[in-house]
Amino acid sequence: DLWTARGHVSFDDVTFGYSEDRVILPHFSLDIPAGQTIALVGTTGAGKSTLAKLVSRFYDPTKGAVTLDDVDLRRLHPKDLRRAIVMVTQEAYLFSGTVADNIALGKPDATMDEIRAAARAVGADAFISKLPDGYDTDVNKRGGRVSAGQRQLISFARAFLADPAVLILDEATASLDIPSERQIQDALQTLLADRTAIIIAHRLSTVAIADRVLVMEHGRIIEDDTPAAL
Ligand code: ATP
Ligand code: MG
Repeated sequence: DLWTARGHVSFDDVTFGYSEDRVILPHFSLDIPAGQTIALVGTTGAGKSTLAKLVSRFYDPTKGAVTLDDVDLRRLHPKDLRRAIVMVTQEAYLFSGTVADNIALGKPDATMDEIRAAARAVGADAFISKLPDGYDTDVNKRGGRVSAGQRQLISFARAFLADPAVLILDEATASLDIPSERQIQDALQTLLADRTAIIIAHRLSTVAIADRVLVMEHGRIIEDDTPAAL
């Protein structure tokens, strides 16, 4: 039977460093209720990506625990963890294969209808339809080349189809080409609905749609408020 997470994420007195001599997160605690959208901001090296990597279990805490629905991530079955927590990285990565294959990575048994619905939901359908072979376009073939912004939309569609309880997004810093700020914002709003989201935010428009903004500095949260209050 499949376990379905609600998406309550918690850091319980987590200490973490990549090496023993340098602590990146010292005694870090944070509670993210299920369904909340967090925008994480702060200077370079503050520990934002490190926090994201602990939630997606690229690394485990040195001390303390990261939990999902009050269960230590280390106690979750890897399959359950992969289904419950999905990370979309900056370099929205495309594998060789068709656009449809790339979206379906989020759900290997997805039907073509589900793939199209996911693309439509995040506003990726329009440009995909204009590619030489539409959804069957090989992303590595000439003419199938997609821009950075389009790759981002494809990875949004992939995440939408995967439908995880927790989504982690390291937002691209580079200004994206084809999709407008507005289009990305609309796509994000659809993608974030009904799930917990942790976004390492570089755009003001993303910070604005969050429920809560955390400002990080030297592995600590120095501000924790609503976007309006900050
Ligand atoms: P940015 O805004 O530049 O992405 P960040 O807030 O995401 O910064 P992190 O990538 O979490 O910062 O890095 C926090 C600290 O950990 C930095 O001092 C960084 O040099 C260090 N660090 C990050 N990754 C590693 C690693 N794989 N090995 C060793 N140190 C690392
Ligand atoms: Mg980072």
